[in-house]
Amino acid sequence: MPKRICAGSTSRKNTADWAAGSWTDEQKQKYLPRVASGQSLAAFALTEANAGSDAGAIATTATKDGDDYILNGTKQWITNGGEAEIYSVVTKTDKSKGSRGATAFIVEKGTPGFTFGKKENKMGIRASATRELVFQDCRVPKANILGKEGLGFIVAMKTFDMSRPGVAAQALGIAAGALDEAVKYSRERRQFGKPICSFQGVQFMLADMATQVEAARALVYAAARYIDTGAKDVSKISAMCKLFASDTAMRVTTDAVQVLGGYGYMKEYPVEKMMRDAKITQIYEGTNQIQREVIGMNLIKEAASKKA
Ligand SMILES: Cc1cc2nc3c(=O)[nH]c(=O)nc-3n(C[C@H](O)[C@H](O)[C@H](O)COP(=O)(O)OP(=O)(O)OC[C@H]3O[C@@H](n4cnc5c(N)ncnc54)[C@H](O)[C@@H]3O)c2cc1C
Repeated sequence: MPKRICAGSTSRKNTADWAAGSWTDEQKQKYLPRVASGQSLAAFALTEANAGSDAGAIATTATKDGDDYILNGTKQWITNGGEAEIYSVVTKTDKSKGSRGATAFIVEKGTPGFTFGKKENKMGIRASATRELVFQDCRVPKANILGKEGLGFIVAMKTFDMSRPGVAAQALGIAAGALDEAVKYSRERRQFGKPICSFQGVQFMLADMATQVEAARALVYAAARYIDTGAKDVSKISAMCKLFASDTAMRVTTDAVQVLGGYGYMKEYPVEKMMRDAKITQIYEGTNQIQREVIGMNLIKEAASKKA
């Protein structure tokens, strides 16, 4: 019976060790300088129409054919889809093994059989392209496997460990920006003959917003510092900072719209956009329900290892 794998769980031992070897030296030399220099964008493709939080349900297949694999399937809602040159694509190489039959591949834009489908029309982050990736008999060499055959989910989950603080930083920036806008506006807007910042009701909102932003900043920086130590058990703090910073961004941007009143609801002011942009940070890179699941599972695992 395969273990349930969701967009965030790390359910095998020594996952960090496995993932540390994900990229071969040849792959690093071939792809990373292009990404680091800004010459090429990269994208990560796990989600499918019927596999979101339940990432183990992916149906895209990679079938071995000599020294190559033939990819078939459709990935959905891929950030930078169509814009990126380099894609990490998680597939099933052995459906009978469930999540243990998954394998991640590097696939380059322009590979025959790899095309792009629908571009999404989104609520927020509208400057970021989100597209379908379509694989139809797309031949990819064995040399493009990330890690090893069968370790695709470990690669995916360790990717999340590193990318969630990035989403947390995105959320923190949105929240801090919304707070700045709210403070600025509250000093300019006059009602009842006074700036609205002179009303305690508004001050208390600003105070709560500022306190939440500082708490989120502290947690995001703590996570980044911990990851920089090279620690391997980063899943919990990575999930915590993404959860807290994104919930903060949603609350703070909603309150910023409130501080601006009707003007906050209008597109002339930036806070309605910030509120729309904040929402995605609670959803992608694993929803915040899934982050809580990751945190809970890690707490229990830590308690069990202390007892043993
Ligand atoms: C703009 C955008 C960009 C994206 N970019 C990428 C990308 O680049 N690459 C990529 O692979 N994916 C990407 N995604 C996909 C994203 O990661 C998924 O949308 C997300 O993981 C949730 O999956 P889902 O939308 O299918 O929701 P579902 O899994 O269907 O969840 C629906 C609801 O049920 C809840 N739920 C599900 N399971 C549980 C559970 N076990 N316990 C409690 N609650 C649960 C969820 O929290 C949610 O509230 C992107 C999505 C969007 C919207």
